Amino acid sequence: MRASDLEPTFISHAPGHWPDVPQELWNDPTWQLRHRIDSLEALESRIELTDVERAGVLLAGNKLAMSITPHFLNLIDRDDPDCPIRRQMIPRLEEGWTAPEELADPCGEDSHMPVPGLVHRYPDRVLFLVTDRCASYCRYCTRSRVVSGVGEQQLETRWDAAFRYLEQTPQVRDVLLSGGDPLLFSDERLDRILTRLRAIPHLQFLRIGTRIPLFLPQRITPQLCEMLRKHHPLFISIHTNHPRELTTEVRDALGRLADAGIPLGNQSVLLRGVNDSLEIQKTLVHKLLMCRVRPYYLYQCDLINGSSHLRTPVAEGLDIIEGLRGHTTGYAVPQFVIDGPGGGGKIPLNPQYVVDAAPGSVTLRNFEGRTFDYPDPTPVPATELQRLRDSVMAGL
Ligand SMILES: *Cc1c(COP(=O)(O)O)cnc(C)c1O
Repeated sequence: MRASDLEPTFISHAPGHWPDVPQELWNDPTWQLRHRIDSLEALESRIELTDVERAGVLLAGNKLAMSITPHFLNLIDRDDPDCPIRRQMIPRLEEGWTAPEELADPCGEDSHMPVPGLVHRYPDRVLFLVTDRCASYCRYCTRSRVVSGVGEQQLETRWDAAFRYLEQTPQVRDVLLSGGDPLLFSDERLDRILTRLRAIPHLQFLRIGTRIPLFLPQRITPQLCEMLRKHHPLFISIHTNHPRELTTEVRDALGRLADAGIPLGNQSVLLRGVNDSLEIQKTLVHKLLMCRVRPYYLYQCDLINGSSHLRTPVAEGLDIIEGLRGHTTGYAVPQFVIDGPGGGGKIPLNPQYVVDAAPGSVTLRNFEGRTFDYPDPTPVPATELQRLRDSVMAGL
């Protein structure tokens, strides 16, 4: 672990591997996307790989593509085979093994689609998968069956049918745009989609799930923010796992979104060798608050094919929450959840603070381990009520 990863400070890692690129190109999201690292050759020319990674990159080609923006590649420590950024982004040979508990569609999304591309699992909200592409690909992607365009399955979003379903389903009041990453679309295209959704009167609330602020902070332009603010109430959920990802560029991009009045939440995935320690999680949530991002969910890693090397025992997540709650700002503590395998939806997990529940009272423990009894309410006795009434009346 790098000591600086535990400091609540913001560092730029530019220009890193690209010392000769003019600032103007570096800040151009199109340049960043065009220069993504997506081949073994390009990766090896910058970072010394282990055998397990080299084989992993070759294997990834027909499962989930490798792709890393220059901005994000610079966060990788080229001398540290255990670097928490490389574990998220560089494929490993372990991905080729499917553990018995693993699934291609761990959250059972395909069986909850009334229209291709629209997942309607909860009564009042839907997940709208608008693209199968991201700026970079996370090795533990819960949607690796469709994302990146090289796997067996294709995402086929049926736009007209999806909008028609939303228009005709008044119980849906909340639409979450995800994918893939919706912020890969041009401002114009996103504006058209949001405008079309905003025209549906029963849609009270829109959200975008994106990792672009982390992978490609250059995409968060003032023009994008001006467009998004027309569609309020609009929230954004970002996805960051490790404090090193919160660079000066990312902090500034998140600041532009917050200044546009967009409430920001973060979703993290608990990953072995990446962020499975209380110290890293604490630094991460503190830095998020400094960026005006509220930690929202901490996910137990889904049972996606080839992910056992990245998953943690459930008890570790509970220990992390226990180490945060009470010990730091309440706003900094995310809800730990497991998406019930096969389609259960998000299930909250909490450390056990109720030590005993007897009739009439509960025994609780606080964050320090001290116990407290909290009794149920005692009803006001009728005789007392009568006496109070008499004394009030006597005073009139
Ligand atoms: C996560 C998710 C949502 C949103 O859930 P919230 O708890 O409201 O953030 C909606 N639909 C699906 C299918 C999801 O997986």
